[in-house]
Amino acid sequence: MKGKIGVTSENLFPIIKKFLYSDHDIFLREIVSNAVDATQKLKTLASAGKYSEQIDALSVKVSIDKAQKTLTVSDKGIGMTSDEVEKYINQIAFSGADEFLKKYKNDANAIIGHFGLGFYSSFMVSEEVEIISKSYKKNSKAVRWVCDGSPEFMMEETEKESVGTDIIMHLNSDSLEFLEETRITELLNKYCKFLPVPVVFGKKKEWKDGKYEDTEADNQINDVAPAWTKKPIDLKEEDYTNFYHQLYPTADEPLFNIHLNVDYPFNLTGILYFPKLKNNFEVQKNKIQLYSNQVFVTDSVEGIVPEFLTLLHGVLDSPDIPLNVSRSYLQNDSNVKKISSHITKKVADRLQDIFKDKRAELEEKWNDLKLFIEYGMLTDEKFYEKALKFFFFTNTENKLFTWDEYKSLIEANQTDKNKKLVYLYATNAEAQFSFIEAAKSKGYDVLLMDDVLATPLLNHFEQKFPESHFVRVDADVVEKLIAKDDLDQTLLTTDEKNELSPIFQSVIPKERGQFIIDFQNLGETGSPMVITQNEFMRRMKDMSKMQAGMSFYGEMPDSYNLVVNLSHPLVKKVMDEKESQLSGELTKLRGELSKLNDQKGSLEKLKEGKKDEEVPQEEKDLLNETRDNISKIEAERREKLEQFGAASPLANQLVDLAFLANNMLKGEALANFVKRSIELIK
Ligand code: ADP
Repeated sequence: MKGKIGVTSENLFPIIKKFLYSDHDIFLREIVSNAVDATQKLKTLASAGKYSEQIDALSVKVSIDKAQKTLTVSDKGIGMTSDEVEKYINQIAFSGADEFLKKYKNDANAIIGHFGLGFYSSFMVSEEVEIISKSYKKNSKAVRWVCDGSPEFMMEETEKESVGTDIIMHLNSDSLEFLEETRITELLNKYCKFLPVPVVFGKKKEWKDGKYEDTEADNQINDVAPAWTKKPIDLKEEDYTNFYHQLYPTADEPLFNIHLNVDYPFNLTGILYFPKLKNNFEVQKNKIQLYSNQVFVTDSVEGIVPEFLTLLHGVLDSPDIPLNVSRSYLQNDSNVKKISSHITKKVADRLQDIFKDKRAELEEKWNDLKLFIEYGMLTDEKFYEKALKFFFFTNTENKLFTWDEYKSLIEANQTDKNKKLVYLYATNAEAQFSFIEAAKSKGYDVLLMDDVLATPLLNHFEQKFPESHFVRVDADVVEKLIAKDDLDQTLLTTDEKNELSPIFQSVIPKERGQFIIDFQNLGETGSPMVITQNEFMRRMKDMSKMQAGMSFYGEMPDSYNLVVNLSHPLVKKVMDEKESQLSGELTKLRGELSKLNDQKGSLEKLKEGKKDEEVPQEEKDLLNETRDNISKIEAERREKLEQFGAASPLANQLVDLAFLANNMLKGEALANFVKRSIELIK
């Protein structure tokens, strides 16, 4: 018999061939899973007493015939009668085909899933496909169906010994790669590794006489009962680890696992693992694999599980996820959303349990887990709420605290005068060593927040807890890190400051960034100078490195404070040297300045209360001239002081020491410092 396949669109085959080309690998998955389905159906019938023949060892066989250029998938399943072939294969009628095909022309999975085109995907790689099938039903005649990819097909009675179906694909010239054993092995391993019915491809091989030879034993591709399909109660810890290595042969030991087993309101099984995450976000090559009834679907699960969970490894299996549809559809599917939030909840619950029952183990593995948990807290509000109970702060002494524990640790000593709780942190224990020590000597505790997510995380905490404030230890001198009571700020007059700032400013190379010179009394035993970096500006710059749209902050120069300790003997020495070297000139300039300032003062007084036009012109001119003169003399003084500073080994040395303490002295500046140091101690 001949006939026409019942599609409303004549163009179906060209579309299958052309547009599905990019994904054409999946044809094998489709054909093998049809064979597996047919086998399982027969098993079901047998166990219901509706089929009495031997059904043990029903396997699906994949074979290659290079001479005939065919790839064959054979099963011993329920088979089809000619009526069934007519119904299931010929009548692939569907409505709205053209519209749909236009929309999804680049998405093979969508087309295949939408129309149940599983079988027809074989035409992506074949110039002709044959079905030879014999139904399990008593007295069935075997049927042979042939189609060359045009809407015409041929169907006839034939001979077949056993019940089941052979799908014989006569590969087209573009698809001869599927005659290669290695290619088929690769595909079967990808898509069929955990199918529930044995899938056999050739014989097991053995190394003999310098080459591989076939043995008697069938080469079974799949594990028909992978760990996730079993009950948690039947599995030991090592079963989970073994399964992990089955999935990812080269990965490190996982940290923890979660066995998912849900049947209401949707069906979901799977095992997720917390892998050892490396400290940077390298692209994870071992991804979560998504299965539908043990058929591999994809390992790009974005949109199905929350983003942070894509860092997990393992397997999810759900027949309820609409697998063969486009990604945007998937993301809006309500089932998918439910599954996603369920997984989040399970993961958080599991961590909560580990925290309760095995806190020591969690602490021990915290370093490997924390990036994952921090990422979750930042991107998933529900997870954040749960995670706050088992999230650990690590301090610079490597002790771990929960949020609540840490709060009570620091509350008494680190609350500032505005009732804000100040969390001190370091991002680099070595580089910020002297600041950490200074803070500790005050009885403060210092957190170590040294991973890539530290800055966004503490921003997040500050938003959640407005009474909390995170300040890096080098944001200010220790006396001012946590403002207790108002410090006396009137250390120097403006004029005194003007005479000191240029000395140190002149020593700082311009390319170092912007420096504000600040004067403090830090005691005789404190450092002579300290470099600090304002918390707000530094954090904005850090954020701008991670986030687009913040480049404004990224482009700002680095800005620092150079805090000069006025009570330090060496600073006093610089001030004394300045007086002795420049005293004559300075006294003269000071005298001139004070005269000019007096003059300016009295001229301004004359102006007071008058409108501009009431002030005589010569008075105005005189005032302007006086101001100009003041600027000139100040500039002259500044220049003298800068020359003095630049030439003063002591001033240079003190500034360099401050840079050195902050790990900021590098290259030529460092070499110069070493040379000068030798000169000074000679
Ligand atoms: P789907 O599997 O999505 O229903 P297919 O085009 O792959 O769509 O198959 C259509 C139908 O053809 C199947 O539902 C099944 O009834 C029948 N079929 C396909 N392959 C086989 C097989 N190997 N043995 C028995 N029936 C099969």
